[in-house]
Formats: sequence, C-alpha cells, structure tokens
Amino acid sequence: MNQTKYIFVTGGVTSSLGKGIIAASLAKLLQARGYRTTIQKFDPYLNVDPGTLNPYEHGECYVTDDGAETDLDLGHYERFLNVPTSQANNVTTGRVYLSVIEKERRGEFLGKTVQVVPHITNEIKERMQLLGRNGEFDIVITEIGGTVGDIESLPYIESVRQLVWELGENNSLVVHLTLIPYLAAAGELKTKPTQHSVKTLMESGIKADILVCRTEHELSDELRQKLALFCNVKREAVIQSIDASTIYEVPNMMLQEGLDRVALKKLDLPEKNTPDLKNWNIFLQKLKNPKHSVNVGLIGKYVELQDSYKSIIEAFIHAGATNETKVNIVSIQSEFLDANNAQAKLKDLDGILVAPGFGERGIEGKIETVRYARENNIPFLGICLGMQMAVIEFSRNVLGLKDANSTEMNEGTANPVIDLMEEQKTITDKGGTMRLGAWKCDLKDGSLANKIYNASSIMERHRHRYEYNNDYQESLQNAGLISSGINPDTGLVEIIEIDSHPFFVGVQYHPEYKSTVANPHPLFVSFVSAMVTHKNK
Ligand code: GLN
Repeated sequence: MNQTKYIFVTGGVTSSLGKGIIAASLAKLLQARGYRTTIQKFDPYLNVDPGTLNPYEHGECYVTDDGAETDLDLGHYERFLNVPTSQANNVTTGRVYLSVIEKERRGEFLGKTVQVVPHITNEIKERMQLLGRNGEFDIVITEIGGTVGDIESLPYIESVRQLVWELGENNSLVVHLTLIPYLAAAGELKTKPTQHSVKTLMESGIKADILVCRTEHELSDELRQKLALFCNVKREAVIQSIDASTIYEVPNMMLQEGLDRVALKKLDLPEKNTPDLKNWNIFLQKLKNPKHSVNVGLIGKYVELQDSYKSIIEAFIHAGATNETKVNIVSIQSEFLDANNAQAKLKDLDGILVAPGFGERGIEGKIETVRYARENNIPFLGICLGMQMAVIEFSRNVLGLKDANSTEMNEGTANPVIDLMEEQKTITDKGGTMRLGAWKCDLKDGSLANKIYNASSIMERHRHRYEYNNDYQESLQNAGLISSGINPDTGLVEIIEIDSHPFFVGVQYHPEYKSTVANPHPLFVSFVSAMVTHKNK
C-alpha cells in the first residue's frame, strides 16, 4: 500500500467524552484487521509539553521511550496498541508556535509577514503528516484535543480542513465525537447539541463523516435516522458509544457498531479479515471474572484526581487480570498520614504503593508509610519519589541517620541520601530537562528483580532529577537494602530491594508507562501476586 490514510477525531458539546479511548479503540480494530496504525494527539495549549503542568491541571504526564513528556492519552494508545509512541505523537500549540518563531528568527520566512494562516497551519499540517511519511503506517489517526468551537482549536480545525482537501477523495475522514444528553424529566435523549456541534464544524468547512455519540441510553433506530438526516452523515455512520464498565470493553462495542467497517469503506480500504481480538478477549474475560481480590494503598499527594496516576491504575488492571484478581485501589492522601494514624489508615491493605511526585508536600507521610510496609512485611512498591522515600526511611530508621533526606526537600541536610544528579546541577530551565525516557538497567544475579523480569538487563522509562546517592551504597547494602538494578554507564542505582522482606521493591523509573494489555508489566504482575499471597496468609 502506498498512500497513508488519515483519520481525524474531533470532539463537540463537552470535553471529557473520551476521544482518546474512541481513537485508541478504532486504532485497535484497524490494527486487528492487519493495518499498521498509529495515533497522535494535538493539544491546543501553549505549554511546549505537559511536563511543566501540575497533575491537577491535566492529569498524569506520560513519558515515551524517546523521552517525550506527553499527554496521558498516549498512554491509552500504547496500552491498546502495544506499539511505542514517540515525541512525534504529541504536539502542542506551544511547540508549533515555538518552532515557527524559531524559523522566523533564523530568517526562513525573510521578507514575509508571519501569520497563523498559512505559517502556523502549515507547521501543523507538516506535523500531522510526519508519522505517515516514511511508509511505516497504513493509517494515522489524529486526535484533536479540546472541543470544536474553542478559540484555541481554530488553527487545528483549519489545518484539518486544508488537509482533507489536499489529500483528496477517500484518503481521509473525520470522526466527530459528541454527547447525546438524557433529560430525565422529559425521559428523552436529545440530539440538538450534536446538531449544533456538527454545524459549528461545518462553518469551519469540515463535514463530519462519522458521528460517535456518547450516551447513557441506547439510541433508537428513529433517533439514529434523525441524527443522520440532520447531521448529514450516512445512517450507518451514526455510531453509539454507550457508557461501559471498563474502557477495555470499548473496542468490542465499536466493532459491534461497525465503526471500523464504516471507516474502511470511506477510506476505500478492504475490510481484510474480521479483527483478531482473541488475546484481547481473554484479557477481558479474566478482568471480568476475578477469583481473588486485594486492596492496594496508593499513597500520593494528587490522589483527589484519578487521572494523576492513570498509568499506575491501568497497570494494576492489566496485572490484576493476569492474576485473575480484582485490585481495589485505596487512594490515601500522604499529606494527612503520620506515625499516629498510619496503623489505622493502612491496616486493611494487602499491599502498598508509594507514588511518584515532586516537592515537599506529603513526603513525611510517604516515609511513614514505607516504615509501616517494611516493618509489617506488607508487599511494597515504591516508584520514583516512592523509591527515594524508601531509601530515606531505611537510612533514618535502620541506619540511624535521623536527618537523612533528599536535597529536593532539604538542601542543607547533613545526610543527602538522595541528591541532585550530577548533570542536573548546572540546569536552570524547568521544561524538558529532567532525566527522561528509556535507560538501560542491569539486574543483579539472583535478586528479586532478576527473577521478576527473568532477564539480566532491561530498559525502563525515567522522569526525575534526583537520584540515590552512591556515597551511602555500602552502608545501605550492608544493612540489607540491596541495589539490585544499576545503570551500566553511570552506576546510578535504579532498583532497591530488601532480601528478608516478602516483597519490598523500589524503582527509580516508571514501570507503569510500559504496561499494556498485551504485555502487563512483570513488576506489577509480581506485586499483585505477592499481595494475594500476603492476604491468604
Ligand atoms: N521529585 C523526584 C525527582 O525529581 C522524583 C520524581 C518522580 O517521582 N517522577 O527525582
């Protein structure tokens, strides 16, 4: 196949309709039919990337192998497709403007007035086609963040309009996701907001080819007919997306609605085989029929917002299914945890995960939690800041270094067991300057990490500035905190564990970013299994 085909996904009526899940589900179906498919997200905000955003703003910041800090939807793309994404898969308005302005400064538009149309739109169109250019993919799905009609979205919508025209008949299509609200008092589903939102798209010169309608109730034939007529789409192109019990149900629901077939028809592509979802459905089967259940504490400072720890929550879903175990996540705000209430707050947990994070708020609660897990033999997983807290706890309470700390929290501490990485010491800019992306880690023979991964060397994704201070390695190891994973080039300690504990692991990297439905992460799988064992004791 030579021509790459493009699918654009826009949203109307409200935000949070789940465009990312619809895009990922469509991609999954096309992939399962044998099409090489990728998804990218264009976000209409001015940050160059979401790396400088607080999780409360926009949820978790996801990290790719190549070290891009991205929107959390890329996590869904990877979890559904099991294909790694990259910097090119997430573009923000900030990045687009930055690159246009840099070009202007270099004189690339010398003599010209630089404008939104055509300079910004050309840059957007260029980036929209980047992944489709090298023949690696048959279909590129582009999700446009935000809601149609927003001021911020306009340059993207105009770029889509131009691209649809330039690509020509049958080489692109537009999926518009909307909401069909249910008015309880009238007992009716309402189509008007969708009609208006389709009209708004039309005013920008874009005709929606497929409508995906989020709804809490089944759409009747009559209502589908009405939507088709008033929104100017084929009857078969009105797709119902009813609320699901899990996002992993959505590909099957879209298959039933024929979303992939309508899309292929419009793109003039053969249907090939029916989608092969065998393994996917085995996963779903296990997910829905658990034999055990465990309670895991998620100790963090952003717990009020579910999206802050999206990848961790999804990794537990994958690992839970593998273990045929329902993993109930008990979110606990670390800020309000201390030595006096730790027992009461943590006693019903079968496992404890101390979450990643930045800054001082809530860290003493995290340290107290680690102590509780260590002393009571509760399965423990510390991720990034969580691993650093485990090192601090061990230094304070086992080595007796009462003032041990991270220089992130106390610059002048006498025992900086966690310290700023050497190469970070000269960095002042905050954006995109952490130690990011995939780094190699060698695993110590015979260690728990070695057994869990069943490998001697792994690649995992990082996002941090501080690190385990090797000046303390000898005393920590002698006292029982083993360094079981080391970066071979820098000697940085990436994994710590305690031999005498049933399951006590801290990792400087983020295993959650690499967990997918097809490949549940081994650390999470083992952690859940350790929780089941602990509970049955
Ligand atoms: N704040 C810590 C650091 O920068 C941990 C970061 C994280 O948990 N992602 O090293």
